[in-house]
Amino acid sequence: MSLRIGWIGLGNMGAPMAANLIKAGFEVAVYNRTEAKMAALVDLGAKPTASIAELVAFADVIVTMVSDDAAVKEIYDGPNGVFSCKGLSGKVCVDMSTVSPETSKDLAYKAEVELMLYLDAPVSGSVKPAQDGQLVIMVGGSRLAYNTAKPIFDVLGKLSLFLGDNGAGNSAKLAINLMLAFYFEGMAEMTLFANKSGISTSDMMAILNEGAMGCGISKIKTSNLVNDDFAPAFALKHLAKDLRLAKEQGLSTNVGLTIEENYQHALDGGLGDLDSAAIIKYLKGKAE
Ligand code: NAP
Repeated sequence: MSLRIGWIGLGNMGAPMAANLIKAGFEVAVYNRTEAKMAALVDLGAKPTASIAELVAFADVIVTMVSDDAAVKEIYDGPNGVFSCKGLSGKVCVDMSTVSPETSKDLAYKAEVELMLYLDAPVSGSVKPAQDGQLVIMVGGSRLAYNTAKPIFDVLGKLSLFLGDNGAGNSAKLAINLMLAFYFEGMAEMTLFANKSGISTSDMMAILNEGAMGCGISKIKTSNLVNDDFAPAFALKHLAKDLRLAKEQGLSTNVGLTIEENYQHALDGGLGDLDSAAIIKYLKGKAE
């Protein structure tokens, strides 16, 4: 427990993850662009910081959990970012956001120049697994850095897998989120098709959940679909971003590309801040 952690990004995922590290006994400093989000973590025992420089000075390991490539680049490589700080040698950066493999490779190179280690370590699992320390963590980088960060991963997840060089974690994450998008699209199309014949959404979800095709995600999202309530656990804008990244990484199969397009239209249509399962709203509008 001697690692001192500097945590940047206290959104839907970052806040419960950082909280688990504090509860596990780590010394944790936090930084968030919107300062107010730090209060709940400070109540749990986190040290608040007013700048990335202050956080970096405190930490052995810097963990980021923010929205997208632009945010991660700004935090590490921006004018007041991690790489602009002093005394970086030997520190380890762990980016757990979902970003492109290229971004991770580029930032890992820049970290190396500063004699730092860098891991891409995106996660599978949404807010509930984050709260329960049950995430699946996909890691790219060096084994040395992985071994250093492993005690952190052991608190945050039920599984961490070392997959190879920088970018490997991101590639695996884009692949598993492609599968997630298939599932959301599938549940939505199943529901809309059944509704046309007068079968209710709740009956259809019961049929799905009690059969072999039901799974964790169908059970978690049942109340969203039945109640037409899409308060975000995993915002649609983030899944649209992940599918765009998969396309940029060479996704070329037809169903995947169609779903990517659907998510992009849903985003353009103003559904980005709803949960990713709200793709049904876009498909319903299209069918009417
Ligand atoms: P979120 O709730 O939207 O939180 C985003 C966080 O990023 C906030 O702390 C935000 O700061 C920060 N941020 C955004 N742009 C920034 C910038 N330019 N500079 C500094 N900070 C910035 O997102 P989330 O759901 O926690 O997701 C975080 C990451 O995990 C994303 O890459 C997402 O794809 C991935 N992910 C999410 C889930 C999920 O179910 N939610 C599951 C797996 C992976 P402010 O508070 O100031 O806005």
